[in-house]
Amino acid sequence: MKCNLENQADALEVWSKRALDHSQNLNSAVFLTATMSTEAQVDPFVAQRRNMVDWQLRGRGIRDERVLEAMARVPRHEFVAEELRAQAYEDHPLPIGEEQTVSQPYIVAAMLESLVLEPSATVLEIGTGSGYQTALLAELSQWVFSMERMPRLAESAADRLAQLGYGNVAVIVGDGSLGLPEHAPYDAIVVSAAAPKIPPPLFDQLREGGRMIIPVGPAYAQELQLVRKQEGRSVSTSLDACRFVPLIGEQGYKWGW
Ligand code: SAM
Repeated sequence: MKCNLENQADALEVWSKRALDHSQNLNSAVFLTATMSTEAQVDPFVAQRRNMVDWQLRGRGIRDERVLEAMARVPRHEFVAEELRAQAYEDHPLPIGEEQTVSQPYIVAAMLESLVLEPSATVLEIGTGSGYQTALLAELSQWVFSMERMPRLAESAADRLAQLGYGNVAVIVGDGSLGLPEHAPYDAIVVSAAAPKIPPPLFDQLREGGRMIIPVGPAYAQELQLVRKQEGRSVSTSLDACRFVPLIGEQGYKWGW
């Protein structure tokens, strides 16, 4: 079991299937009410999470059902400070300490969707931050290696992920701009901090046919680039404009901005 909320997610799936199959049936309506109130007791944020998925993600064109279901399951409020929980499902980034942020839900979903992850995938994530996106990657793939340069963030993310039952994640403290060659090649690489250019070691660690999503550019002019490795060569596509904190390291910005 990857997440201790999975039983609740199963309940949600049962809920929506029955809703579709028996939408005219009164008994089914009673069942729905009973299920929803139990869910709300377990996790008071279920409805907010559903709204986030419907309005911010589906409503803006995210179509990958595995990504949408994972985002409906992972409790984003667990990854922010107590006083920010009420804002956890709003349409903006949130501070996570150490002058870092957890990205807006839509950007996270767009990045995950672009990777087209198979359940058997091995993924390298650069910039663990709060661990929220790591949890989503853990839901969508088999193994996640996640690198964070700030030990305090890495430690609290690893604790949180363990508490939530994610056993297929390793959080590593280090300079992610150099990647993690000992576990390469990766089916996918996701970089959650802006680089001045595609770091060559990350491209080298991508398997043939693999995908990397990475914000590239300076503080106020970044774009999200999707890089595919085809016959050993890099094929890049520009997606959205975006705004991330800097990737600080040997193959990133040396001192931030
Ligand atoms: N995706 C994260 C989440 O869900 O909370 C948010 C990531 S935050 C936008 C970017 C993170 O990248 C910060 O935690 C920062 O410390 C980290 N970072 C910056 N440069 C790095 C590097 N060279 N190696 C590893 N992590 C780095």
